[in-house]
Amino acid sequence: MDNAATTRVMPEEMELLEKILVEDYGNPSSLHRKGQMAERHLMDARQTVASILKTEPKRVFFTSCATESINTALRGAALKQKRFGRHILTSKGEHAAVRETLKDLENQGFKIEYLEQDASGRILESDLEEKLRDDTILVTLIHVNNETGCIQPVDTIGSLIRQKSSRALFHVDATQSFCKYPLYPDRYGIDLLSASGHKINAPKGIGLLYKGQRASIGPLLSGGGQESGFRSGTENVAFAACFAFAASTMWEERSELMERLMSLKRLAWEELKAVPDVFINGPSVDEGAAHILSIRVSGVRSEVLLHALEDDGIYVSSGSACSSNKPEEKSPTLHALGFTPAQMDETIRISFGRYSAEEDVMALSAAVKRLVPVLRRFSRK
Ligand code: PLP
Repeated sequence: MDNAATTRVMPEEMELLEKILVEDYGNPSSLHRKGQMAERHLMDARQTVASILKTEPKRVFFTSCATESINTALRGAALKQKRFGRHILTSKGEHAAVRETLKDLENQGFKIEYLEQDASGRILESDLEEKLRDDTILVTLIHVNNETGCIQPVDTIGSLIRQKSSRALFHVDATQSFCKYPLYPDRYGIDLLSASGHKINAPKGIGLLYKGQRASIGPLLSGGGQESGFRSGTENVAFAACFAFAASTMWEERSELMERLMSLKRLAWEELKAVPDVFINGPSVDEGAAHILSIRVSGVRSEVLLHALEDDGIYVSSGSACSSNKPEEKSPTLHALGFTPAQMDETIRISFGRYSAEEDVMALSAAVKRLVPVLRRFSRK
């Protein structure tokens, strides 16, 4: 029940891994046949990912994780665009990978401004329209929020940015949405897009960066000039192939999978809302992403509930993974929704994936119903 944190690799990928790691293990830059075999796998993987994004393979770059993609995109955009201005727009619901990178850019003299949002966490497009200025060089937004499942309408936001600004590049952190929701960056006016393999049943250690025609940014890593000079370092061919396999499987099964995940989420909420003083955070069940349900169990610290559930073999995430005492650092997403630090500490995230089943939801619900009254009694003492 913690699939937004990471997912299990599909058994079919093990065969592919073995073939590439043991047989086709060449370096894609080598000129001989062994190298060419590896290069073929890499080209196929790039083609597969490009077709999911409805773009050209040359726009797709493999990285080590979404964090690397995000760093490359944001630092690259800031550096390339700074002759036009230093103004960057973002939301209060970004993942630490974006947040911390922007903090660093702020220390380098860039001006970071936050967009207003509604009660569910969706940014207000009217505010974006107002805040876009001549010196705005970058807008970066999370597509699906990893804590609450709030979905930003990145397609309409992309067109709005294009209409209003000829300079501002648009980066989307699609780590929680890639292959789950349609993302066609060339059509949506998205210039840069980051995603990660391990959220969609591929191994940890492979990421993706889409770089559109307008985003002529430079690399973060220099060296041997792999990935058309944009990401040096010998390519992780085996993981790229697994990523492409997992992506195409999820993409093909997307409608059915997302419907199933949404029905699991509805069932989970139907069950959990029966417990007194349990609240849903962020968007309503149907408005949020199908795989993420964030709830607040009043009077029970999430860490305590998390460990109690763990004893039943059920793994969930606490809403605020960070141990900081500053509310805005504990969970900027929940802080922006108006949560007090105590309320943040009562938040748990339940997240579903390919291998989640109805009996898992029923086991979670039974455990919560059994544990919460006991934990509340203890916490009141
Ligand atoms: N962005 C979002 C929305 C995420 O959920 C995550 C991971 O949890 C990341 C970025 C970072 O991904 P990675 O672990 O691949 O660097």
